[in-house]
Amino acid sequence: MAALTHQTYPTYGRIDGPIVIIGFGSIGKGTLPLIERHFDYDASKLVVIDPNPDTHNFLSQHGHRHLQVALTPDNYRDVLSGIFSEGQGFCVNLSVDTSSLDIMVLCRELGVLYIDTVTEPWAGFYFGTEENAARTNYALRETVRAERARHPGGPTAISCCGANPGMVSWFVKEALMTLAADTGRDTTEPVDRDGWARLMQALGVKGVHVAERDTQARRQPRPRGTFVNTWSVEGFISEGFQPAELGWGTHENWRPDNAHSYDEGCQAAIWLDRPGAITRVHTWCPTPGPQFGLLVTHNEAISISDYYTVGDPAAPEYRPTCHYAYHPSDDAILSLYEMFGSGRQQTQHEILDADEIVEGVDELGVLLYGHDRNALWYGSRLSTAEARRLAPYQNATGLQVTSAVLAGMVWALENPRAGIVETDEMDHKRCLEVQRPYLGPVEAHYTDWTPLQDRWQQFPEDIDESDPWQFRNVLAS
Ligand code: NAD
Repeated sequence: MAALTHQTYPTYGRIDGPIVIIGFGSIGKGTLPLIERHFDYDASKLVVIDPNPDTHNFLSQHGHRHLQVALTPDNYRDVLSGIFSEGQGFCVNLSVDTSSLDIMVLCRELGVLYIDTVTEPWAGFYFGTEENAARTNYALRETVRAERARHPGGPTAISCCGANPGMVSWFVKEALMTLAADTGRDTTEPVDRDGWARLMQALGVKGVHVAERDTQARRQPRPRGTFVNTWSVEGFISEGFQPAELGWGTHENWRPDNAHSYDEGCQAAIWLDRPGAITRVHTWCPTPGPQFGLLVTHNEAISISDYYTVGDPAAPEYRPTCHYAYHPSDDAILSLYEMFGSGRQQTQHEILDADEIVEGVDELGVLLYGHDRNALWYGSRLSTAEARRLAPYQNATGLQVTSAVLAGMVWALENPRAGIVETDEMDHKRCLEVQRPYLGPVEAHYTDWTPLQDRWQQFPEDIDESDPWQFRNVLAS
């Protein structure tokens, strides 16, 4: 698809009332120009809430209002109710340390549309919660599911609509249709959740890796004592310290000794008593081929396994395994190595800026495995160079996220009374239609690689040769 030019920016609709962006870090800063480009709205009603004073100069240069405040459990109701007093508008939550659930609930009460990219808790949750089971994304997601069960319908509130979680759920559907076509099956698109789940089952998909390789790099070597990442350092440290989690498929015949499951909730996932950022898995992406990924917990690992479950959730007929398999940028890998090795979080944080990145691509897709064609990777291979041409103030990672936020906002405007929704439940075609011009090459790649291939033979490994796609083989020793 041709790159967008000024002449071709489509306007997707009008947002009446205030637009509030909460959090103006790497994602907030990249989302603002997309909102400016693609929506009709009253610019005097756009407000950015962020405690960082640096935000002020940037926003005043661009003629936008900045409210320099950190939202807390004590002030968020007053602050947001004051801004959204007219009972309409859009709240775009792109911050760390604010409760997605509390803000989502308030937005419903106020009649305001809502979107976030992660189910974020208030400050203190990630490191101040004692029980590991309570620190999981399963637990966080269940709070949102419970709210939806209590209050179905109402103003649309989209939960977890970034790149991943978010866009990758739309890719799963495109990958399934690609696989259906390439294996000579019926290519009539399913119309509901059950249809999609049965299609995945019929195609013989055992599981899904959200398989990512980020090769973005700058010229300057990483300074010791500095955590360098291509998106929120705080966000990555928080999720990296959460227990590893994965949607747990019906084909699995073994589970790790440190695995725990749940008696309540959707029951689609298990968690491991080990931080995700030091739990390695074998996976595959087009550029590197086989690689290690980190089994960092993510909402989509649970939501995708949940969405594609066939039968009783407590004893399913079919469910795919699903987890993140993330190879972050080399600087981020070194930062993690230093952090876990020293037992201390670095005090200096840096997010690689699009202008300092000299090379690299964020290759982010879904690897559907275990079927007749073995494995299919489907995803975006966006370079920073292309991201710079497409939109200001962001690297490739940022643009994959912010363009998903844009797509989610468009969907919300077009479906304003859908209540709380996850991206698995949205119209993936419409969302990708909006997002695709910002994604660089979106490609499908088949591979004959399996986790049993190309292993080092010199040392014994605990593997199951009867089925290459057992998690036992995917989990690196
Ligand atoms: P960042 O660290 O660059 O920025 C976070 C911003 O939040 C900062 O500007 C900070 O000042 C602000 N903030 C902190 N506490 C706040 C409070 N109490 N009230 C208001 N603002 C507050 O992070 P980022 O890279 O912009 O990421 C933002 C969010 O998006 C994070 O939650 C991150 O996990 C999420 N994210 C999701 C995806 C995805 O694909 N789903 C990808 C990247 C980031």
